[in-house]
Amino acid sequence: MVFNKKTIEDVAVKGKKVLLRCDFNVPIVDGVITDENRLVGALPTIEYLLENGAKVILCSHLGKPKGEAKKELSLEPVGARLSELLGKQVVFADDDNVVGENAVNAVNNMTEGQCVLLQNTRFRKEETKNEENFSKELASLCDIFVNDAFGTAHRAHCSTVGVTKFVDTSVCGYLIQKELKFLGEAVENPERPFTAILGGSKVSDKINVINNLLEKVDTLVIGGAMAYTFLKAKGFQIGNSRVEEDKLDYAIEMMKKAENKDVKLLLPLDHVIANEFSKDATPLETVSENIEDGYMGLDIGPKTRENYSKWISQSKTVIWNGPMGVFEFENFSKGTKAIGEAMAKCGGTTIIGGGDSAAAVNIFGMGDKMTHISTGGGASLEFLEGIELPGIVALNDR
Ligand code: AMP
Repeated sequence: MVFNKKTIEDVAVKGKKVLLRCDFNVPIVDGVITDENRLVGALPTIEYLLENGAKVILCSHLGKPKGEAKKELSLEPVGARLSELLGKQVVFADDDNVVGENAVNAVNNMTEGQCVLLQNTRFRKEETKNEENFSKELASLCDIFVNDAFGTAHRAHCSTVGVTKFVDTSVCGYLIQKELKFLGEAVENPERPFTAILGGSKVSDKINVINNLLEKVDTLVIGGAMAYTFLKAKGFQIGNSRVEEDKLDYAIEMMKKAENKDVKLLLPLDHVIANEFSKDATPLETVSENIEDGYMGLDIGPKTRENYSKWISQSKTVIWNGPMGVFEFENFSKGTKAIGEAMAKCGGTTIIGGGDSAAAVNIFGMGDKMTHISTGGGASLEFLEGIELPGIVALNDR
């Protein structure tokens, strides 16, 4: 399993050249970073390495340059902001081919406790194909590799997996360690009752998550558009709500599995509906599970909010991935907000699986009330599916 990996504290870093893979994939508008959470999140590992006398070589991807050096996706603004946050200069090695003359010179000139930032790893087309040549080039810069980019740990790329083949020591940083601790403990050894809440747009995106979580949880709460596929499969009318006809059989299979495993599977009892998908649509409440033709379900209704909140309040571990409705429209955000509120109050371990639910919790100002908000939407979902993340598997075992 993936939980027993060496960390930066398990290896001697003094005087060593340490290549640190971070997730600096931040939004940048006109050269200005508009959300620096990921930079701040990376600081503990960088600071630990610097304080312990490592020569720190930072690398990351930014956006999707698709193997081309695109000026607007340069990591230069990240280097400038990191220099301010760390209170020491981060030398930006501006090579379009990432490991070029500038990078090699900058690394050769480093002394202990100094920091160099490489250019966007995705400027190289080999990066996302995990090709050997770029992996070797990255490895040639360092003695030790540290992965702290949980958000890309589900991808086997040169800077997350390939590089580890050519470096003797590969370990994880504090961010990955924290993700593994919270997600890993919740899934493998949860304090019970253990409740998972799944929402969002599609059943098809979460098939393996539902299947895997039914092996682990006591209660599975379903909301968002994916609930309509389950309700239709049960024979309710769902009007014009979003549905995946080709997943009706799967929904039936999962409901049977829940019954066999003695897992309580909760579906909406009522809905907030509208006659169009629009932020200005008039929200109406249904009296039951059924939705009449001409209307679509855009959020869970009041009875469902109350019921889901009650089950959450009785849980000792709660994991949440996917909104309960179209939370981007205020009129249809109450269900998603209610889940956040119930989790914030429940007193147990509460984990938000990244992506839209993390965004929702932050919009509602509840971020600091959760035990853990995962930094990787895709990665945390794959973790919940029970898949071993390649970027973590590749690190040295204890
Ligand atoms: P996902 O990316 O699968 O987690 O889905 C998130 C998206 O699902 C959000 O943008 C929500 O607006 C959308 N969503 C949630 N509930 C509904 C619904 N009842 N109808 C349509 N879209 C929904």
